[in-house]
Amino acid sequence: MQRRDFLLALAAGTAGFLTACTTEHPTARVNSSSPSLTQPPASPSTTVPLSPSPSPTPSLSPLHLQDGPPPLPAPSPADSLITGLPENVGNIVAITVDDGTDSSVVDAYLDFVKDSGVRLTFFVTGVYPSWTDNRDKLLPLVESGQVQLANHTWTHPDLTTLSEGALIDELTQCEDLLRNTYGVTGAPFIRPPYGKRNSSTDATCAKLGYTTAAMWYGSFGDSGLLTEDVLLGEAQKWLLAQHIVIGHANFPTVTHLYGQIIDILRQRSLLTATLDDIYFGPGHNRRV
Ligand SMILES: [Zn+2]
Repeated sequence: MQRRDFLLALAAGTAGFLTACTTEHPTARVNSSSPSLTQPPASPSTTVPLSPSPSPTPSLSPLHLQDGPPPLPAPSPADSLITGLPENVGNIVAITVDDGTDSSVVDAYLDFVKDSGVRLTFFVTGVYPSWTDNRDKLLPLVESGQVQLANHTWTHPDLTTLSEGALIDELTQCEDLLRNTYGVTGAPFIRPPYGKRNSSTDATCAKLGYTTAAMWYGSFGDSGLLTEDVLLGEAQKWLLAQHIVIGHANFPTVTHLYGQIIDILRQRSLLTATLDDIYFGPGHNRRV
């Protein structure tokens, strides 16, 4: 991302930058529908010749986007604070999904990544049962590197209000869950709840190996309950090359929009990558 664009967006008051992980219900509108946002009708089948092959290749899922990691330049270590991806990655977006207050939404995300090949990074808030309920489905995706797990604390506090000891406990409990349940470390990526951090919290995180505060540049805005059209509008606004975008596994709205999200990615020729793909190399995972 260009620094100029970043500053312009900040000046414009980037709602997506500021609203992630809030507990409010931002701009929720109910009883709305968005016929203009539905998928276009399929092309008339009469114009498509039938395949002569007696044993055609099985058709891919309608959600299919990619197989494996995208082409990426040689990785460089992440800075201590990241809000976007390196410019040289090209048409790549990093979708990151936080919290996990609803186990069924995490489950739906896992079906989505299996069907689509989308690569994403979960920022796990360890206290929620989602992260143990879905272990059997999630573990092979973590082991393959398609899904990355990183640290979003144990109970989602504002880190700047904690004593050093309490902050260490928050990070360590989540880290222990990731190690014991999935055999990986969340380090070096910590996402501070509400984006609240400072040099002191950064220093404490770094002592535990969490040397990169993974911020974002755009959000689906769905930490609280949104209507489908509002969420889709945010997705259209922020799913752009070199962005780190936040979604939340908290409400089922997003699970109704996976097809439209794939359409946006296709229309923009975007492929997805985990933070590990970008900063450590394609397919990397951090087994311990
Ligand atoms: Zn959060």
